[in-house]
Amino acid sequence: MRILVVGSGAREHALAWKISQSPLATAVLCAPGNPGIAQVAKLVAIAADDVEGLARYARGDAIDLVVVGPEVPLVKGLADRLRQEGIPVFGPDAAAAEIEGSKAFAKEVMAAAGIPTAAYAAFTELAPALEFARARGGQVVVKADGLAAGKGVVVCGSVAEAEAALRDMLVGQVHGAAGARVVVEERLEGPEASCIALVDGERAVMLPAAQDHKRVGDGDAGPNTGGMGAFSPTPQVGPELLEEVRRTVILPALRELARRGRPFRGALYAGLMLTPEGPRVLEFNARLGDPETQPLLMRVAGDLVPVLLSAANGDLEGVELALDPRPAVGVVLAAEGYPARVTLGDGITGTEGPFGEGVQVFHAGTSRTTDGQLVTSGGRVLTVCAVGRDMGDARARAYEAAARIQFRGRHHRKDIGLK
Ligand code: AMP
Repeated sequence: MRILVVGSGAREHALAWKISQSPLATAVLCAPGNPGIAQVAKLVAIAADDVEGLARYARGDAIDLVVVGPEVPLVKGLADRLRQEGIPVFGPDAAAAEIEGSKAFAKEVMAAAGIPTAAYAAFTELAPALEFARARGGQVVVKADGLAAGKGVVVCGSVAEAEAALRDMLVGQVHGAAGARVVVEERLEGPEASCIALVDGERAVMLPAAQDHKRVGDGDAGPNTGGMGAFSPTPQVGPELLEEVRRTVILPALRELARRGRPFRGALYAGLMLTPEGPRVLEFNARLGDPETQPLLMRVAGDLVPVLLSAANGDLEGVELALDPRPAVGVVLAAEGYPARVTLGDGITGTEGPFGEGVQVFHAGTSRTTDGQLVTSGGRVLTVCAVGRDMGDARARAYEAAARIQFRGRHHRKDIGLK
């Protein structure tokens, strides 16, 4: 099989790395990829959101399976276009990806399917939104309806905070059209976990639960980021709870989407808060998480390709995925200034190791200069992953490898996997 991965982050590097180990893969390609991905796949110079360019390329180059990493091409209809061409694609059509593209739509699906989630209402006008927030003493979460690159959610502790967030989005339009409608929901408390299912429209193969670290600083200090690291498994989500999530969250969401004529094939990601009353869904994503995917794929022992292909073909019946029982940790190395303005173009050394067994370095914001030097080219530069006999061992091995990689201004969290 000729398999094309779409994207250029550490998540796509982990996917290309895992797929390249499959005996089914005769060629692995990646558009547009990065220098790390170039070691396991042939790079194709087409942007991840160039829907027509990718469709033309996939048809012309006899691609047998396309695996889409990021949400933007999905929301733009890349999977629809590929399916029109008759090319199997792991990733939902635009109509199904709306479960990530619109928070109001996601809440509507949850309500219709009886999926446990926070009480909410959607607004386009300030006055009624403020009234809803006031009635809850300001203990609410204000969410821009559309895609806002992970920055569209404000967790409020007072009426003043809620009012500021609502004014910013509905009046100040800080997120543009994405914030012209907002979801305001009750604020919940509890630890968080990510549960990701590989789904074929009806059936689901669960990946183990993972947890990410969104804040830039140790102890969850500082601003939100795209994610500074992740680990799996999480102590709070054992096999029983994972099965409960499959039964009460993933399968009902699939049924409701199918009922609305929007069958979902790909990775359905449920971001959960584990409240004393049980798990509650905070959000759905229409793709694998980044950075969760990096440690998660380290824990996949079996061949990932049959699962991706069966999900793409709507035929997951009887398909299973063998897992490595060992825990895994992924530590993100970020560029100076991240998540604010970052300095780019700093030389990177040490990514080639040598590292021990069960250590992988996945590239994100890296590029090569014309003379071949590896330099930083994005906020999140690398994810350093390791498996270990226990979480402490996995952490120690990941941090030991991370310490060997250097670039000016590099920073990372020291507490990934300590939660
Ligand atoms: P979301 O993009 O909807 O997952 O929200 C981003 C983050 O905001 C989550 O990971 C939580 O930390 C927080 N959050 C979202 N919804 C709630 C809620 N209802 N109660 C408390 N925190 C929330």
